[in-house]
Amino acid sequence: MVPAEIDTVLLPVGTVEAHGSACLGTDNLIPEAIAESIAGRLNALIAPTISYGITKSLYRYPGGFTIKPETFRLYIRDVLDSLANSSFKNVFILNGHGGNNTDLKTLAYEFHRDRKVNIAVLHWWQLCADMTREFFGHVGGHAGTDETAMVQAIDPEQAYEQMHDDDLAYYFRPGADVYPVPGTILLYQEGEGLPNFDLERARQYREKVFQCVGEFAESVLARWRKFDL
Ligand SMILES: [Zn+2]
Repeated sequence: MVPAEIDTVLLPVGTVEAHGSACLGTDNLIPEAIAESIAGRLNALIAPTISYGITKSLYRYPGGFTIKPETFRLYIRDVLDSLANSSFKNVFILNGHGGNNTDLKTLAYEFHRDRKVNIAVLHWWQLCADMTREFFGHVGGHAGTDETAMVQAIDPEQAYEQMHDDDLAYYFRPGADVYPVPGTILLYQEGEGLPNFDLERARQYREKVFQCVGEFAESVLARWRKFDL
Protein backbone atom coordinates (compact mmCIF):
# COMPACT_ATOMS: atom_id res chain seq x y z
CA MET A 1 0.00 0.00 0.00
CA VAL A 2 2.89 2.40 0.86
CA PRO A 3 4.25 3.92 -1.32
CA ALA A 4 2.37 2.57 -4.37
CA GLU A 5 -1.04 3.89 -3.29
CA ILE A 6 -0.19 6.29 -0.47
CA ASP A 7 3.19 8.01 -0.19
CA THR A 8 2.33 10.81 2.22
CA VAL A 9 2.02 10.81 6.00
CA LEU A 10 0.86 13.40 8.54
CA LEU A 11 2.51 13.46 11.96
CA PRO A 12 0.83 15.62 14.65
CA VAL A 13 3.26 16.91 17.32
CA GLY A 14 2.22 18.93 20.37
CA THR A 15 2.78 19.18 24.09
CA VAL A 16 0.87 19.11 27.38
CA GLU A 17 0.72 22.44 29.16
CA ALA A 18 -1.62 25.02 30.73
CA HIS A 19 -3.89 26.85 28.28
CA GLY A 20 -5.97 29.33 30.26
CA SER A 21 -9.49 27.97 30.27
CA ALA A 22 -8.85 25.43 27.47
CA CYS A 23 -7.64 21.87 28.05
CA LEU A 24 -4.04 20.84 28.81
CA GLY A 25 -3.98 18.81 25.58
CA THR A 26 -4.90 21.76 23.33
CA ASP A 27 -1.65 21.51 21.36
CA ASN A 28 -2.36 17.86 20.51
CA LEU A 29 -6.10 18.17 19.95
CA ILE A 30 -5.78 20.87 17.27
CA PRO A 31 -3.14 19.27 15.00
CA GLU A 32 -4.96 15.93 15.28
CA ALA A 33 -8.19 17.56 14.10
CA ILE A 34 -6.32 19.29 11.27
CA ALA A 35 -4.74 15.96 10.26
CA GLU A 36 -8.14 14.26 10.14
CA SER A 37 -9.62 17.05 8.08
CA ILE A 38 -6.86 17.24 5.44
CA ALA A 39 -5.74 13.58 5.15
CA GLY A 40 -8.37 12.89 2.47
CA ARG A 41 -7.43 15.72 0.14
CA LEU A 42 -3.72 14.83 0.47
CA ASN A 43 -4.35 11.08 0.14
CA ALA A 44 -2.28 10.69 3.32
CA LEU A 45 -2.14 8.42 6.32
CA ILE A 46 -2.04 9.86 9.85
CA ALA A 47 0.73 8.65 12.17
CA PRO A 48 0.06 8.50 15.93
CA THR A 49 0.51 11.85 17.67
CA ILE A 50 3.65 12.77 19.58
CA SER A 51 1.91 14.30 22.58
CA TYR A 52 4.85 15.47 24.72
CA GLY A 53 6.95 18.39 23.58
CA ILE A 54 9.24 21.18 24.73
CA THR A 55 7.26 23.15 27.30
CA LYS A 56 9.19 26.13 28.57
CA SER A 57 7.59 29.09 30.31
CA LEU A 58 4.42 27.22 31.40
CA TYR A 59 6.12 24.06 32.66
CA ARG A 60 5.54 24.75 36.36
CA TYR A 61 1.79 25.25 36.06
CA PRO A 62 -0.27 22.17 37.07
CA GLY A 63 -0.31 19.51 34.36
CA GLY A 64 2.83 20.74 32.63
CA PHE A 65 5.12 18.18 30.96
CA THR A 66 8.37 18.93 29.21
CA ILE A 67 10.93 17.02 27.18
CA LYS A 68 14.53 18.20 26.98
CA PRO A 69 15.27 19.51 23.46
CA GLU A 70 18.05 16.95 22.88
CA THR A 71 15.73 14.06 23.88
CA PHE A 72 12.92 15.51 21.76
CA ARG A 73 15.15 15.74 18.69
CA LEU A 74 16.50 12.19 19.06
CA TYR A 75 13.06 10.73 19.69
CA ILE A 76 11.35 12.47 16.79
CA ARG A 77 14.24 11.67 14.48
CA ASP A 78 13.73 7.98 15.29
CA VAL A 79 10.03 8.34 14.46
CA LEU A 80 10.87 10.11 11.18
CA ASP A 81 13.44 7.45 10.29
CA SER A 82 10.79 4.81 10.87
CA LEU A 83 8.47 6.65 8.47
CA ALA A 84 11.27 6.81 5.90
CA ASN A 85 11.95 3.10 6.40
CA SER A 86 8.27 2.44 5.77
CA SER A 87 8.84 4.07 2.34
CA PHE A 88 6.85 7.29 2.77
CA LYS A 89 8.09 9.95 0.36
CA ASN A 90 6.38 12.99 1.88
CA VAL A 91 6.01 13.89 5.56
CA PHE A 92 3.97 16.74 6.98
CA ILE A 93 4.59 17.47 10.64
CA LEU A 94 1.52 19.27 11.99
CA ASN A 95 2.89 21.17 14.94
CA GLY A 96 0.61 22.50 17.66
CA HIS A 97 3.12 24.14 20.00
CA GLY A 98 5.42 27.13 19.59
CA GLY A 99 8.10 25.74 21.94
CA ASN A 100 8.73 22.96 19.40
CA ASN A 101 9.28 25.23 16.38
CA THR A 102 13.06 25.67 16.42
CA ASP A 103 13.92 22.04 17.08
CA LEU A 104 11.42 20.76 14.51
CA LYS A 105 12.97 23.05 11.92
CA THR A 106 16.48 21.70 12.61
CA LEU A 107 15.20 18.13 12.60
CA ALA A 108 13.32 18.56 9.33
CA TYR A 109 16.33 19.97 7.55
CA GLU A 110 18.63 17.18 8.79
CA PHE A 111 16.07 14.46 8.00
CA HIS A 112 15.43 15.68 4.46
CA ARG A 113 19.19 15.92 3.81
CA ASP A 114 20.06 12.48 5.22
CA ARG A 115 17.06 10.45 4.06
CA LYS A 116 16.03 12.20 0.83
CA VAL A 117 12.42 12.36 2.03
CA ASN A 118 10.34 15.51 1.52
CA ILE A 119 9.24 17.10 4.77
CA ALA A 120 7.28 20.21 5.76
CA VAL A 121 6.65 21.42 9.31
CA LEU A 122 3.40 23.35 9.50
CA HIS A 123 2.66 25.69 12.43
CA TRP A 124 -1.06 26.23 11.83
CA TRP A 125 -1.43 29.46 13.87
CA GLN A 126 1.42 31.11 11.95
CA LEU A 127 0.40 29.72 8.58
CA CYS A 128 -3.13 31.03 9.10
CA ALA A 129 -2.21 34.31 10.82
CA ASP A 130 -3.47 36.54 7.96
CA MET A 131 -6.76 34.66 7.81
CA THR A 132 -7.07 34.85 11.62
CA ARG A 133 -6.45 38.60 11.60
CA GLU A 134 -9.12 38.99 8.96
CA PHE A 135 -11.57 36.75 10.80
CA PHE A 136 -11.20 38.02 14.37
CA GLY A 137 -9.57 41.40 13.76
CA HIS A 138 -6.35 40.28 15.53
CA VAL A 139 -4.12 37.20 15.71
CA GLY A 140 -5.00 35.89 19.17
CA GLY A 141 -2.16 34.11 20.98
CA HIS A 142 -1.43 31.18 23.27
CA ALA A 143 -4.83 30.06 24.66
CA GLY A 144 -6.25 33.23 23.08
CA THR A 145 -9.09 33.73 20.62
CA ASP A 146 -7.68 31.48 17.89
CA GLU A 147 -6.55 28.48 19.94
CA THR A 148 -9.54 28.50 22.28
CA ALA A 149 -11.94 28.79 19.34
CA MET A 150 -10.31 25.75 17.72
CA VAL A 151 -10.64 23.71 20.92
CA GLN A 152 -14.24 24.80 21.43
CA ALA A 153 -15.17 23.92 17.85
CA ILE A 154 -13.45 20.52 18.04
CA ASP A 155 -14.91 19.63 21.45
CA PRO A 156 -16.98 22.23 23.34
CA GLU A 157 -16.43 20.26 26.57
CA GLN A 158 -12.70 21.03 26.48
CA ALA A 159 -13.02 24.83 26.53
CA TYR A 160 -14.29 25.78 29.96
CA GLU A 161 -15.95 29.19 29.70
CA GLN A 162 -16.96 29.09 33.37
CA MET A 163 -13.24 28.87 34.33
CA HIS A 164 -12.22 31.80 32.17
CA ASP A 165 -10.85 34.88 33.88
CA ASP A 166 -9.39 37.86 31.98
CA ASP A 167 -6.63 37.99 34.61
CA LEU A 168 -5.22 34.72 33.23
CA ALA A 169 -3.84 36.85 30.40
CA TYR A 170 -0.24 38.05 30.25
CA TYR A 171 0.74 40.44 27.48
CA PHE A 172 4.25 39.79 26.17
CA ARG A 173 6.60 42.65 26.89
CA PRO A 174 9.74 42.91 24.77
CA GLY A 175 12.73 42.98 27.09
CA ALA A 176 11.43 40.45 29.64
CA ASP A 177 11.83 36.66 29.76
CA VAL A 178 9.87 35.42 32.78
CA TYR A 179 9.83 31.82 34.12
CA PRO A 180 7.17 30.83 34.88
CA VAL A 181 5.40 33.34 32.73
CA PRO A 182 2.81 35.14 34.92
CA GLY A 183 -0.34 34.02 33.10
CA THR A 184 -1.53 31.02 31.09
CA ILE A 185 -3.12 33.03 28.27
CA LEU A 186 -0.27 34.70 26.39
CA LEU A 187 -1.12 37.63 24.15
CA TYR A 188 0.68 40.31 22.20
CA GLN A 189 -1.37 43.47 22.43
CA GLU A 190 -3.12 44.87 25.51
CA GLY A 191 -6.86 44.25 25.24
CA GLU A 192 -6.57 42.03 22.14
CA GLY A 193 -6.88 38.29 21.75
CA LEU A 194 -8.92 37.04 24.71
CA PRO A 195 -11.13 34.01 23.98
CA ASN A 196 -14.75 34.89 23.20
CA PHE A 197 -16.48 31.46 23.47
CA ASP A 198 -18.79 32.09 20.53
CA LEU A 199 -19.39 28.51 19.37
CA GLU A 200 -20.86 29.41 15.99
CA ARG A 201 -17.91 31.69 15.15
CA ALA A 202 -15.52 29.05 16.49
CA ARG A 203 -16.94 26.47 14.08
CA GLN A 204 -16.60 28.84 11.14
CA TYR A 205 -13.02 29.57 12.17
CA ARG A 206 -12.15 25.87 12.44
CA GLU A 207 -13.34 25.29 8.87
CA LYS A 208 -11.21 28.20 7.67
CA VAL A 209 -8.15 26.80 9.45
CA PHE A 210 -8.71 23.37 7.90
CA GLN A 211 -9.05 25.03 4.51
CA CYS A 212 -5.97 27.23 4.98
CA VAL A 213 -3.66 24.40 6.11
CA GLY A 214 -5.08 21.92 3.59
CA GLU A 215 -4.64 24.29 0.67
CA PHE A 216 -1.05 25.09 1.60
CA ALA A 217 -0.08 21.44 2.15
CA GLU A 218 -1.68 20.47 -1.15
CA SER A 219 0.24 23.15 -3.02
CA VAL A 220 3.56 22.03 -1.49
CA LEU A 221 2.84 18.42 -2.37
CA ALA A 222 1.94 19.35 -5.96
CA ARG A 223 5.25 21.23 -6.28
CA TRP A 224 7.30 18.34 -4.91
CA ARG A 225 5.64 16.09 -7.48
CA LYS A 226 6.04 18.56 -10.31
CA PHE A 227 9.79 18.75 -9.65
CA ASP A 228 10.05 14.98 -9.24
CA LEU A 229 11.23 15.19 -5.65
ZN1 LIG B 1 -1.14 25.91 22.57
